[in-house]
Amino acid sequence: MRSGLQDDGLGAHPYGQSEHCRQIVDRLTPERRHAFSHVKRFMERLAGDLEFRRALSENTDAPRAVTERYGIEVDPMEMLPLWREGYVKYRFKPESAPWPLAMMWDEHMGEMLRHRDLLRDQGGMSTINPRFHAWRERQIRRCSDELGKSAPAVTHPILAFELSEGCSVGCWFCGLSADSFQGYYEYSKEHAELWRGVVGVASEMFGPAARTGFCYWATEPMDNPHYDRFLFDYYQITGTLPQTTTAVPLKDEALTRRVLELFNLHGTTTNRFSVLSTRHLNEIHSAFSPEELMRVELILQGKQAPIAKALTGRALERKEKLRVVDKDDAIAILERDHTTIACVSGFLVNMRQGRLQLVTPVPGSERWPLGYRILGQHFFRTPDEFKEGMQSMIDQHMLDSPAPDLPIRFRRDLQYEPGNQYFHLRSRNKEHRVLDDVGPISVGELIACGNCTASELVRRVTTDATSVLAVADLLDQLYAAGVIEEDLNDRFT
Ligand code: SF4
Repeated sequence: MRSGLQDDGLGAHPYGQSEHCRQIVDRLTPERRHAFSHVKRFMERLAGDLEFRRALSENTDAPRAVTERYGIEVDPMEMLPLWREGYVKYRFKPESAPWPLAMMWDEHMGEMLRHRDLLRDQGGMSTINPRFHAWRERQIRRCSDELGKSAPAVTHPILAFELSEGCSVGCWFCGLSADSFQGYYEYSKEHAELWRGVVGVASEMFGPAARTGFCYWATEPMDNPHYDRFLFDYYQITGTLPQTTTAVPLKDEALTRRVLELFNLHGTTTNRFSVLSTRHLNEIHSAFSPEELMRVELILQGKQAPIAKALTGRALERKEKLRVVDKDDAIAILERDHTTIACVSGFLVNMRQGRLQLVTPVPGSERWPLGYRILGQHFFRTPDEFKEGMQSMIDQHMLDSPAPDLPIRFRRDLQYEPGNQYFHLRSRNKEHRVLDDVGPISVGELIACGNCTASELVRRVTTDATSVLAVADLLDQLYAAGVIEEDLNDRFT
């Protein structure tokens, strides 16, 4: 279940740097925890229920009459900046002091955003796996250039595991176009052994960065009735319980409760429920108390929720269809600048097929309609084969410098503009100014033309040994900045 991961602007995966996240809620006093859980419920209603919004707007002087009907035990008058026009301007400012509940909520939101930035750091592997580390850093820089609004929310976890085949939910907006459900990976003795072996290999190869892993992709966690057992193994091996996002928390309520209980005992992150409609919101609110959902973020995906969908997968197909019949408004907001919901820069593992892929987010396109690029693929039956597969993809795809014998050119989304001993590169989000004075011929011009290999370029620009080093250094810098095209059509598709 990948749907909601970036759609709320808070981003993908609240794992790792994990104590931070847990502390956000745990350090509240019991009274504030109670108040917080009810403010949270109020905000969920506000975002996902048109009827609630309408009732509030008709009762601006006596809003409690409305909230009481929904079992919300805080006074909306104490949080006017969160909902009432004319007061919103005070949010995140000292002027919101007269409304302590609004201040509490906004502090929480601020902490969640800071937490997201910490998560990205947790995938760092500069000591334990420098090649993978440099490759991931490069992908992060590229993504911050080309993913538009999606970029800040992507935390680039290094691992995702699918514990089923396909997904039983079938959301119309599924950015990964998940196939229909084919079955789940049972927690049998044999599978448990392979699973523990695989997670052990990842932990050994990537150290604490393996804690960024999570156990779903184009799959729904609750489609696997043994999901909690896989999670617990992951926790025992890596020291962290992977974060869960589910669109069907009520499908097997006992399983959902077991997962939440695991998090109460050992978890350090917030989990997420994707809410598909106002009716779904009602059902979730009746099944779980505000306190039970303190550490569960509800991602309102229904048509009454003002959340943009990334233009990938089924959401893109639907958009295209509706355009034909001129019915754009029939679906929730789709933004051209919201380019992907994929977040992994690393390995995507399907346990049922024993399939391992190296992937990284890209804007959804005809070439990569699901919003991520697949660089390579291997199959494995044992932890050793899993390790060999990962290592061979690291060796093949995670280069320190541009491949000497392949064409060198700028990323296709960049606009090149020459200058005098410098050049500019413009992307969707940024502009780079690059000094280009290492040889008599412009390096930028040759890369922009794109008809020579890296080694030919060095030969054409350089005049002596010193300039060879300077040109090679400039190419390395451009490569590390993520502006050199790595997705050459002659590679794996
Ligand atoms: S169809 Fe499945 S994988 Fe896709 S968004 Fe819905 S729950 Fe997630």
